[in-house]
Amino acid sequence: MRDVKSIAITRANKLIQDRVDLPVLNKDQVLVRTLRTGICSTERELMHQTINAPDGYDFLVLGHEAVGEIAETGSAVSQFQKGDIVVPSVRRGCGECVFCNSNRSDMCNTGRYTERGIVKLHGFMSEYFIEQEANLTKIPPPLKSQAVLLEPLTIGIKALEEYYKVQKSRLCITKDISEKDILKNALIIGAGPVGLLTAVILACDDVPFVCADIDEDGGIKSEIVRMLNGKYVNLREYLDGDILNSSKLSREKSVGDLDLIVDASPDPVTCMQMIDLLRFNGAIVHLGLPGGNKERRMSCLDHYITSLVLKNGVILGSVNANFANFKTGITYMEQCQKKFGDVLDRIITHRFHFSDYQQAFDVKSKDRIKVVLEWS
Ligand SMILES: [Zn+2]
Ligand SMILES: [Zn+2]
Repeated sequence: MRDVKSIAITRANKLIQDRVDLPVLNKDQVLVRTLRTGICSTERELMHQTINAPDGYDFLVLGHEAVGEIAETGSAVSQFQKGDIVVPSVRRGCGECVFCNSNRSDMCNTGRYTERGIVKLHGFMSEYFIEQEANLTKIPPPLKSQAVLLEPLTIGIKALEEYYKVQKSRLCITKDISEKDILKNALIIGAGPVGLLTAVILACDDVPFVCADIDEDGGIKSEIVRMLNGKYVNLREYLDGDILNSSKLSREKSVGDLDLIVDASPDPVTCMQMIDLLRFNGAIVHLGLPGGNKERRMSCLDHYITSLVLKNGVILGSVNANFANFKTGITYMEQCQKKFGDVLDRIITHRFHFSDYQQAFDVKSKDRIKVVLEWS
């Protein structure tokens, strides 16, 4: 048995670095030397929540966004060899429901799934981690430096796939109406990692989009949006107190007739206030969990629901991603590199050695998009 340096959160919500024992490698498992792990809002939220530690532990090793290099393979491993670069998926199915048993644990309907670094399983913020080969995706070497973004990219891939499935089934009523006809115009709210990576997908597919955030125009977020041929909106310019003036936004920035609004922000109020810009039959995909002031949310709810009803609108929630989305993600990363150069590298705004984890978790600069820890 070997022990490895790991970053974990205790039941008292304290962030620590400690040595954690690695289990013995099973024959269908591989030992991965961690290269990079990403820090995501989920981890920041865990600092203020009751943690779901693995049984028998009073801490949870963090990390669900990772890339590593295979250091050792079990005797029955057939798809991978030492030296391969890999990205692990996060969720492990409940083993009971039809979705988990069909390789779609992202749609688990018992809620009894586990997730590495989040629910009941240690994560990847360790010098080494062990994983079943079935949960790993091989990364082409040219994508090694950006591959830590693959997991958050899959969140956008699943969300857009779900959007197309729902909208195609109800709107493509004749064979003359194609995917292109039902998504001509999208708005993403929140230019954090998930928002910008969703923008990458839309840009690769040549879907015109606007990205709105509370950070000013001229910073790294707006620069990335423009590199992707998108339009950037600073929401603060359209706020009258608490109320977003969507008609002013529509007038001044020609934002409107939206087929899709993706809410990748920590406060759904902006999205709810944008409802007037949604086209008839349009859809809203919520990726963020509601934060901020509850009274403000309640004050928008009637108008939001009324508009959705009168517009035949769809509200879709989406979480996690399925294994196939990781493969699709690699295709998008390759396409993005060809079309838009180093935009993915620029989404990684801060890099720290893992021993400086405290500093890494504390980065508050407005130019923060993705913070990563370097392990080797
Ligand atoms: Zn995440
Ligand atoms: Zn399940």
